[in-house]
Amino acid sequence: MDNNCLFCRIVAGEIPATVVHETATTLAFRDIDPKAAVHVLVIPKDHHPDVVALAQNDPAGSADLLAAAAAVAEAEGLLTDGFRLMFNTGAYGGQEVFHVHAHVLGGEPLGPMLAIR
Ligand code: AMP
Repeated sequence: MDNNCLFCRIVAGEIPATVVHETATTLAFRDIDPKAAVHVLVIPKDHHPDVVALAQNDPAGSADLLAAAAAVAEAEGLLTDGFRLMFNTGAYGGQEVFHVHAHVLGGEPLGPMLAIR
């Protein structure tokens, strides 16, 4: 655990979150500032700063994260109409919290993939 990491502190129960799914290695909770009708963040409980670090250092954890994201999408009723699974990474990717998190977005049409094109 990184005491300076917001999402580590959510895992530790020090900061409240609306948890929608939990496994031994992952936690999923609603985004505090939702960008779609459904907006859930799925994280590994272990600290990895971004998806590259997770993929390189913990392949099993990467698989757990994808499986958890799929379970969240199913539980949120997103499988029929589809959804978006997104990892913002680094400065150009707009990452703000440096504990890897998958955004599960859906519940309505999401529009184009990127606003700049
Ligand atoms: P990113 O820009 O990919 O790093 O996304 C960070 C996300 O974390 C944003 O969508 C924020 O709204 C969300 N967020 C920040 N603080 C919290 C919190 N305490 N609980 C839930 N979501 C949060």
